[in-house]
Amino acid sequence: MTGHRTTRLAPSPTGALHLGNARTFLATWLMARQAGWRIALRIEDLDGPRIKTEAATGAIEDLQWLGLDWDGSIIRQSDRRALYQAAINDLMARGAVYPCVCSRRDVELAASAPHAEDGAAIYPGTCRGRYASIEAARRDSGREPSIRFMVPDGPDGIVAFVDRIHGARRVDVGRELGDFTIAKADGTPAYQLAVVVDDLDMRVTEVIRADDLLDSTPRQILLYRAMGNELHIPQYCHLPLVVGADGRRLAKRHGDTRISHYRRCGVTAGRMLALLARWCGMDVRDDVEAQELIKRFDVTKMMGGPTVFSAEDEATLLK
Ligand code: GLU
Repeated sequence: MTGHRTTRLAPSPTGALHLGNARTFLATWLMARQAGWRIALRIEDLDGPRIKTEAATGAIEDLQWLGLDWDGSIIRQSDRRALYQAAINDLMARGAVYPCVCSRRDVELAASAPHAEDGAAIYPGTCRGRYASIEAARRDSGREPSIRFMVPDGPDGIVAFVDRIHGARRVDVGRELGDFTIAKADGTPAYQLAVVVDDLDMRVTEVIRADDLLDSTPRQILLYRAMGNELHIPQYCHLPLVVGADGRRLAKRHGDTRISHYRRCGVTAGRMLALLARWCGMDVRDDVEAQELIKRFDVTKMMGGPTVFSAEDEATLLK
C-alpha cells in the first residue's frame, strides 16, 4: 500500500487511564513516531451511562503529561452519530444485518453449550431471517430491536489475517464467535461498528491495541468486507496485556493503578515513562522523556506474553 499511514490512540472514558492503557498508548506512539505514521486521538465515548465526562478530560491530560502527542484535532465518537447511523442503514439495505429482539438472558438460555473465547454466549441465530424489517420486529415482538451482523455461512465467514505480534490467525467467525451486535436496542452503535466506521473515515492503516481485543478483529474484518471496503482493512498489532501478580488483567482488584493516582502521589512523568518503557521491553533505568525512547523502541521485544505489574514495580514508582 502506498501513501500515508495512520494509527490512532482510542481511549474509552469509562474510567481514568491506568497503567495498562498508558503502556498500550506509549507503545503505539513509539511505533508511529519511529515509522513516521500519523497519530489520531479518538475518544470512544458512546457507551452511554458508563461514560464519565471528567474521564475524557483526564485521559487527555494524562497523555499530555506523559509527553505523548497526536496530530490533528481530537475526534469524539459522540459527535459522529450520523455517520454510524448511515453505516447501519447501508448494512441494512445490503441485507448484511438483521433486527434482533433477543435479550441477553434469551441468548444465554438458548446457547447453553457454546461460548466464545471471551466468555460471551454464541448467538444461536434465533432472529436470523425472522423479521422483514425493523418495524416488523418492533410490531411483532413489542420490543425495541438491536441490530445484529449476519456472519456469512461457509468459507465467507472465515477470516484470516496476520497480526504483527500474534502472527497468522484464522477464525471461523460463525462457529467461534457467532452473529454480533452492531447497534444496541437503544440505538447506540456498538463498539465493533463504530470502530470500523471511524477507522475507515479516519483512514487508519495501523490498528495497535491490547490483545483482549484480538477476538474483535475477525468481526471487524467481516464488517469491512460487508461494507465493500476490503481494500482498506488495516494492519493489526495486538499487544500483550499488563496483568497483576495473580495473572489477571489489571483492574480495580489490584488497587488504584490510575495514572492520576500516581501523579497525586508525586510520581514524575519521567519515572512513570521509565516503568512503561521497561514494560515495552526497553532497557531504561532512570527518568526518561518520550522523545528519547523513539529510536530505541522495538515492538518484537513485546512478543513474550503478558507483563506482570509486580510489587517491585510499584515500589520503584513510589520510592
Ligand atoms: N477504546 C478501546 C479500549 O480502550 C480500544 C478500541 C480499539 O483500539 O479498537 O480498549
